[in-house]
Amino acid sequence: MVDKVKKIWLDGKFVDWDQANVHVLTHTLHYGLGAFEGIRCYAQDDGRGAVFRLREHVERLFKSAHIVTIPMDKWTIDEIVEACLETIRVNDLTECYLRPLVFMGDGAMGLAATENPTRLAIVAWKWGAYLGPEGLEKGIRAKVSSFTRPGINMVMAKGKIVGHYVNSILAKREVMTAGYDEAILLDAQGYVSEASGENIFVVRDGKVATPPFAASILGGITRDTCLTLMREMGIEVEERMISRDELYIADEIFMCGTAAEVTPVREVDDRTVGDGKRGPVSKRVQDRYFQVVRGTEVPHPEWLAHV
Ligand code: PMP
Repeated sequence: MVDKVKKIWLDGKFVDWDQANVHVLTHTLHYGLGAFEGIRCYAQDDGRGAVFRLREHVERLFKSAHIVTIPMDKWTIDEIVEACLETIRVNDLTECYLRPLVFMGDGAMGLAATENPTRLAIVAWKWGAYLGPEGLEKGIRAKVSSFTRPGINMVMAKGKIVGHYVNSILAKREVMTAGYDEAILLDAQGYVSEASGENIFVVRDGKVATPPFAASILGGITRDTCLTLMREMGIEVEERMISRDELYIADEIFMCGTAAEVTPVREVDDRTVGDGKRGPVSKRVQDRYFQVVRGTEVPHPEWLAHV
């Protein structure tokens, strides 16, 4: 259950948590045309909060809307960046998760509904480790889902689009019911694409690989952060296709996303990955990631938006 906070930003105004309601004819509720973000704010060593890569997330929100032709002319990127920070401030939060959601309001019920208003909500709440604190330390058990990631011209994977997430939910529920922690999805050709809400990295023979941006994946901001940090640490990393059985012969696998942060995978399809523990490369990347989001090390000051 999400713990209530005081206020939610809705269409430019703060409303009480319990008043942030919409009409049942809200278009997005029926057809899934909407875009959203998941962002984290971390307590820094000085006690203040800082939102990690806030501007990139807001930019992606606008791009997601653009991809699916949702008009975003009511607000600028700067205004939404500021609204996100303000949402944290009014709720007296330091460490939290932020969920901006763009949705189509009510009006017409036809599919096109080009005249329906674009609406935008920003909600903040406290959210711990998405795949559990034990998962961060010991690694999680993943399973390749029987559900395929839709092809690159079936859904627009570069957008974080509301309706696209049914595919992720089906995969996640399927593997959780079978007792696993997270689902890995293959693309229509059978190559590894990503997990239900994370990008994926494989370490083999000292080299790291992740599917390329053009694959059927979300262009994760954590993925980009990990790529940047690994290159800065001198870890060899390439963006290329990965086959299912390469997962089975990997020395290490880790997943990354804003919610899941950097989570090692200790088992895939009932096969132990490496020696079944968080591997050394995964640990280096994870340690570095937490240093950077918490401001212990600040190699990229532009990545931190102080509350
Ligand atoms: N892939 C999918 C399908 C996701 O939902 C997410 C979470 N937004 C990611 C990857 C990771 O993206 P990010 O690092 O930007 O959170």
